[in-house]
Amino acid sequence: MKEHSLEYTSRDFTASLPTAEYIAVYRDAKRFGACCRACPNYGQSWACPPFDFDVDKYVSTYRTALIIATKITPLCRTLPLDAAERLLLPERIWHERLLLSLERRYDGRAFAYAGRCRYCPPGSCTRLTGEACRHPELVRPSLEACGFDLGRTTESLLGIPLQWGEGNQLPEYLTLVGGFFHNAPEVDLPSVWQELRRSDGVKSV
Ligand code: SF4
Repeated sequence: MKEHSLEYTSRDFTASLPTAEYIAVYRDAKRFGACCRACPNYGQSWACPPFDFDVDKYVSTYRTALIIATKITPLCRTLPLDAAERLLLPERIWHERLLLSLERRYDGRAFAYAGRCRYCPPGSCTRLTGEACRHPELVRPSLEACGFDLGRTTESLLGIPLQWGEGNQLPEYLTLVGGFFHNAPEVDLPSVWQELRRSDGVKSV
């Protein structure tokens, strides 16, 4: 099997807008709810819908929606589709830690990347046996699982058109999108980033 380099460059993007506007313009719960129901992961993990909380209330509790995205461009232009999870992982870990740090500092609500929950081994989510999540302090729903249109979000708010693979090949770049909804007058992202870098070394590039 051919080994591919998973080196990449990354660039972070953010946008902030009133949550009411984000819901009115970028949320279509009916359409994206149907997409989730058609996904094989539906109901297979506590990170995926259907959720045991009121999603409408969940998304509308806080005044401001901060969207945080990372554009990840692999140096190798011929990566196969199944390299996506490994390519995304370092940035995904970083994103999830950043979002949870924001929650701790500003008492808001984080929305994480929608991929397979990474906190338990594959196929061992307790949802399959009807038991409670092992790590509720770490698991957060994604924006798309709560009905938000990520393609529109990244293109209109951040200037990044989402790209899809062709055949078995990854696109030129992947985009990781998360959110932090809050009531703080201001969110000092650089200082949270710095705090994380100090506690955990530098971000992978
Ligand atoms: S942390 Fe484990 S139990 Fe909780 S949603 Fe993720 S896989 Fe399931």
